[in-house]
Amino acid sequence: MKTEFTADQLDQPPIAEANEILRACVHCGFCLSSCPTYALTGDELDSPRGRIYLIKNMLEGGGPPDADTVHHIDRCLSCMSCLTACPSGVDYMHLVDTARGHIQTHHRRSIVDRLMRWLMATILPRPGVFRAALIMAKPAQMFRGILPNTVGRLTEFAPNKIPPSGSLVGIHRPDGPPVKRIAMLAGCVQSVLGGGINEATIRLLTRHGCEVIVAPDAGCCGALVQHMGHENSARSQARANIQAWSSIDGGVDAVVVTASGCGTTVKDYGHMFADDPDMAQAAASIAAIAKDVTEIMAELGLGVAVPLPDVSVAYHDACSLQHGQGIRAEPRALLEQAGFEVSDIAEGQFCCGSAGTYNLLQPEMADALGARKVGHVDATGAHVVASGNLGCMIQMARFTERPMVHTVELLDWATGGPKPTALEIPRAGVS
Ligand code: SF4
Ligand code: SF4
Repeated sequence: MKTEFTADQLDQPPIAEANEILRACVHCGFCLSSCPTYALTGDELDSPRGRIYLIKNMLEGGGPPDADTVHHIDRCLSCMSCLTACPSGVDYMHLVDTARGHIQTHHRRSIVDRLMRWLMATILPRPGVFRAALIMAKPAQMFRGILPNTVGRLTEFAPNKIPPSGSLVGIHRPDGPPVKRIAMLAGCVQSVLGGGINEATIRLLTRHGCEVIVAPDAGCCGALVQHMGHENSARSQARANIQAWSSIDGGVDAVVVTASGCGTTVKDYGHMFADDPDMAQAAASIAAIAKDVTEIMAELGLGVAVPLPDVSVAYHDACSLQHGQGIRAEPRALLEQAGFEVSDIAEGQFCCGSAGTYNLLQPEMADALGARKVGHVDATGAHVVASGNLGCMIQMARFTERPMVHTVELLDWATGGPKPTALEIPRAGVS
């Protein structure tokens, strides 16, 4: 694609990078059929190629983008399905991040939109504040009718029962001498709503000989705010993690992440700090050892599986795991080794509509994708759905009674851990 940036614009590293990315696009359109928003609307401007044109025009023009451009870029899920599909290697992930940063700086959103985004950027990355907000959200549902639609939707995501709080900070040791030392990202939203996933990860890894360290100063990976265009906040949260993990006494062999949206971001820390001489090396070192839990388990080898009732599993590929990290085979192989019958879900390349804060900010598109995904899930007839990302589990659970579990919870159960909580509720075929 031909671009027309000025020399001054090209002196800015994000624009110089965007220029290279844009030039790699040859307009072939192979990405169109991979894009869930294009599948829903059929509008070229809701496709990767259409958005690439919009981003090019917006960045070349500089200054405030028009409302149509913002509308179509906001509707992008950042699911990276187009990244997988593109034969020319167009780095759409970093291009759309630059576009979101430009919109955040140059576009004034409506007051409700700004309030919604401020609430999410303030509440979600802070586990204590998030927990308090969830407790207040239940009674607030009574006022759903008078709350702005977008703010009211926030209250819908509060679960009926909020899991008990409990810190996992510290060192979790295996029975014998450790075969690996691993720092675990407990996360922000996951540490509140998916504490059981973190506990299952610690049990699974220590059972397989690893020492697991949860550093006290590590927190949100930065992805939530980055996808809203808040680049400085994202870097500040990432910096805290890098410093927390780099200063662990004796070092670690890996940083394990069990929320794949976060894993994609941690693996990109090197890129995030490439222009920062104080942080570049440490960021690149952390990014190089960041691993999804299934990558680590594939390296370690799954221990002997204990006998389980017949449980069939529909495996949902989270976009951030399959497109963002290129991981598809490991979770399936591990689940099968553990003794589960695993089935694929049709249109597996498509997002379920979760996409970080997308299901809060783009309710219509998110709900359409969620219902479409769950229709395919139900067609498998599997007892449970497994995924490597809590956000997908929460999103899909809104459309089906079928239990949602994290892959690691099944692996933990199959190697001697407790039955996943979601399976404690009696369901047909799972005893
Ligand atoms: S597939 Fe790649 S090169 Fe082709 S239009 Fe899409 S982004 Fe551009
Ligand atoms: S990231 Fe996903 S939603 Fe956005 S353009 Fe690419 S395929 Fe479409």
